[in-house]
Amino acid sequence: MHKIDLSKGVLKDVNENNKNCINCKICFNSCPMMKEYSSSPKELLQSIIDNGMIDKKIPYSCMLCDVCTIKCPKDINLKNMFYDIRKDIFENNLNIIDDIGYKTVKFHQTNSFSPIFSKRFINKTSKKIFFPGCSLSSYSSDIVLKTYDYLKSNIDNISLVFECCGKPTLSMGDMDKFNEYYSKLDFMFNENDIYEVIVACPNCFKTIGSHSENVKVRTLWEVIKEYGVPKELQDYYKDVNLGFSLHDPCPVRNESKVHESVRYILESLGVKVVEFDKNKEKSECCGSGGMVKVTNKELANKQTRKRANEAKTENIVTYCEACCESMLSVEKQTLHILDFMFNEDVINKKKFTQDKKSTIKKWSTRYKGIKLAKKTLQANKL
Ligand code: SF4
Ligand code: SF4
Repeated sequence: MHKIDLSKGVLKDVNENNKNCINCKICFNSCPMMKEYSSSPKELLQSIIDNGMIDKKIPYSCMLCDVCTIKCPKDINLKNMFYDIRKDIFENNLNIIDDIGYKTVKFHQTNSFSPIFSKRFINKTSKKIFFPGCSLSSYSSDIVLKTYDYLKSNIDNISLVFECCGKPTLSMGDMDKFNEYYSKLDFMFNENDIYEVIVACPNCFKTIGSHSENVKVRTLWEVIKEYGVPKELQDYYKDVNLGFSLHDPCPVRNESKVHESVRYILESLGVKVVEFDKNKEKSECCGSGGMVKVTNKELANKQTRKRANEAKTENIVTYCEACCESMLSVEKQTLHILDFMFNEDVINKKKFTQDKKSTIKKWSTRYKGIKLAKKTLQANKL
C-alpha cells in the first residue's frame, strides 16, 4: 500500500461529501470498487479525513463510471471526488505515478499523437470531420474507411481525421500533458473552421464535447439514424436466429438521443436486440473505464466478468470498441454495431463475433489504415 498526502482543497471536498452523506449505501452496492477498500462510503470518507491521506490504489480503481452520481439521493458526486484526487496526485505526488501504470498510458499517448499514427485528411472547404478515434482505428481500417465512404455519400465535403482525443491522459489526471495534447486538436478545429465533428467513440464524444466550445460534436449513430442504413441491409439480419444483448457504454449514459439512435439502427438492420436489466442511463461499466484496465487490472477484469454475465444472451453488441475488447477478453461473442454494416464476415453471416487482437496487431492495423487512406484519398484528391 502506498499512501499519499492530499491537498487542503481536496480534503475540504471529502469533508463536505462526508457531512452530506447519509450512508444509505445505494452507491456502494452498485460501485465496482468501493467494497474492495471499505465497508461503507462514510467509513471510506472518514478514514481519508482522519489520515489526510489515501491509498493511491483507491482513486485509480474508480472506473469514473458515474453510477454513484446518478444514484445518490443527496447529489454527492464521488466520481468527481476520486477524479480530483487523481489530479491532486499529479500536481503533488508525481514521483509515485509510474508504478500505477502511467508508463503504459504514456507509451500509448506518445505513439497516438505521433505522425506515424495520426493523420489529417482535411479538405480546405470542409466544415465537417469524421473522427473515428483510436480504438476503432486499431480494430479495423476497413470498417473506418467504409464508414467514411458511407458518410461521404451522404454529406458533401466531409473530411477524415485519424487522431486521439487524449482521453487516456485526461483520465489519469495529468492535466498539463492533456492540455498540451488537446490544444493541438482544438487548434486544428479552429484553424480549419470546423463546426461539426462526427465521432464513433463515446470517449471522444465526451472529451471533445467538453473541451472544444466552438464545435458541435455528434455521434455517428445520430448521423446514421438521420440518413438510414444502406438500403441493401434493411431488415437484412431478420432471418438470423440469435439475440444480441445491447451494452450501453457508460460515457454516454445520459445521452438518450444516442440510445434511441443505436436501437433504431439495429432495428432497421433486423438485429434482434435483448436489453440488459441495467441499460441506458443505468448501464454498468465494462471494466475499461477510468483506465482501470491499466491501473488495477484484476479489479477491471472482475467488473468485466460481472457485466458480461449480466448479458441474457451468448452474443453482445455495443457501440464502443473498448467495450467490445473488454467483452471479448472474457470470451463473450461480441460485435460492434458497425460490424453489422461493414464487416464482410458478418454480412456474409459467417460469424457473429470479432476476433481478439494482440497489442502489436492493433498498432499495425492503425498504421496500415492511415497508409491505405493516404493511397485512396489522396489519389481521389479527397
Ligand atoms: S464512478 Fe463508478 S467506480 Fe467510481 S466511485 Fe462511482 S460507482 Fe464507483
Ligand atoms: S448514495 Fe450518496 S448518501 Fe448514499 S452512501 Fe452513497 S454517497 Fe452517501
